[in-house]
Amino acid sequence: MELDKMDENDWKYHGEGNKSLVVSHLQVCIHINSKQAFRHILNIVDYSKYVMKPLLGEKYVHSGEVVKLPLDFVRQLSLKVQQERPELRCDKVMDTFSGCGLCLPNLTQLPLHHLRDHRPPICVEIKPKCGFLPFSRHITKECKRKVCRFCMHQHYKLANGKWKRLSRYCPLDLFSGSKQRMYVALKNLLEEPQNNLKIFKGGELIFSCKDDAKQQPELNDLIQHLRPYFSHSNGLYNGHQPGKAILNEFIQVICSALLSGGDSNRSGEPRKVHLSESRPHCEASPFPRDLLRNGNHGLPKDSVLAKILQVQMLDNLDIEGIYPLYKRVEQYLEEFPKERNRLQIDGPYNESFMDKVKNCPTEDDGSVEYAVGKVHQYRVAMTAKDCSVMITFAPCEEDEEQQLKLEKPRFTYSISILDLDPKPYEGIPHQYKLDTKIVNYYLRSTQAPP
Ligand code: ATP
Ligand code: ZN
Ligand code: MG
Ligand code: MG
Repeated sequence: MELDKMDENDWKYHGEGNKSLVVSHLQVCIHINSKQAFRHILNIVDYSKYVMKPLLGEKYVHSGEVVKLPLDFVRQLSLKVQQERPELRCDKVMDTFSGCGLCLPNLTQLPLHHLRDHRPPICVEIKPKCGFLPFSRHITKECKRKVCRFCMHQHYKLANGKWKRLSRYCPLDLFSGSKQRMYVALKNLLEEPQNNLKIFKGGELIFSCKDDAKQQPELNDLIQHLRPYFSHSNGLYNGHQPGKAILNEFIQVICSALLSGGDSNRSGEPRKVHLSESRPHCEASPFPRDLLRNGNHGLPKDSVLAKILQVQMLDNLDIEGIYPLYKRVEQYLEEFPKERNRLQIDGPYNESFMDKVKNCPTEDDGSVEYAVGKVHQYRVAMTAKDCSVMITFAPCEEDEEQQLKLEKPRFTYSISILDLDPKPYEGIPHQYKLDTKIVNYYLRSTQAPP
């Protein structure tokens, strides 16, 4: 990319999150943020490179690089994309830009997608959220051991007007490794995507939550988009509920990608792992309880979900166990403010930070080192609870014989993990309060008064 020749007309609005606006140009994406200066973005790159990548696996993480952007280009670009931004996000003004950006490969595209096939890649982005029930002995409310955080949070979000309808998605079903439960989880995401599911075709967003929260997502439009990729199922079902058959196959492709080792060129039955020490099912999930016995096969060891879950589970004390340790660190820092650097509270996120994460003592010896190690681990787990998985796939190539035999279509795919920025140390008191609010609200709204 030649930075001095950048023209805003080559770039288009791609999406945005809470912190960054994302623009894309064929094979690359740039995240632009109004407040983040060079050091801040470098922290995000380092964190991804030295912490998240070793934990989640080389093949899933693309760390990207910091780029300096001509201020004039950014100004023109922000004007250009303004009208494309969703109304829901427009309360965030993108006025003063630092002139820095984070450049990443465009993960909605396939790097080696040969143009022999006319069908562009489909990309499914899932924000899976926390996939286990906390098992810490510091937990004070019994319901946290039975109902997952996502399901409890839904009630709170509904009450606060964040969403108009409850999502029936439960992360524990997605992370179960049981095809049946994963199928139900993905179906529920399609029915109520909120901010947990987006679908792109050739880099363009074709399916996500509606700006107007009252409107249902257009499953029929999605089916029309997907039809050319699953044409054999049109014949197979002979016009009988063909849309349903297409969605069914689509979900199965996502499922097998999620259960694979990362790319489509591997075979053999992978080793399964059972990561959770806790109850593997959430009581709020709509998955029928009598079918649970057939499920719970665990996740294949190298699968993207196993990797994410493993990092999420670095949070083994729960926020209720972490908060007192945070206070221990705070008290220590009050007395020895210069220690903040040595303890790497705000980074740098390098190998030495990673050492503190990996080599934290298992037992509390009362030291500040233990407290800092656990707080670091908690923050790393929080990143893994908030990341997104991108599954990008395209038909291997059109094969007429295969079409005639009505064989299942074959896809080539690639999986990546995205949105791996560090969660702030200062956010811990807020997380503690939020946890209490969510749990109390859940108890009040689901338990009838005596
Ligand atoms: P969040 O509110 O989820 O924390 P964020 O501000 O950290 O969001 P991202 O999630 O990193 O921002 O990016 C916002 C959206 O832009 C993503 O959900 C995704 O759809 C898109 N996006 C980001 N990076 C890429 C990429 N490298 N390739 C393709 N799409 C991307
Ligand atoms: Zn749940
Ligand atoms: Mg983020
Ligand atoms: Mg995100």
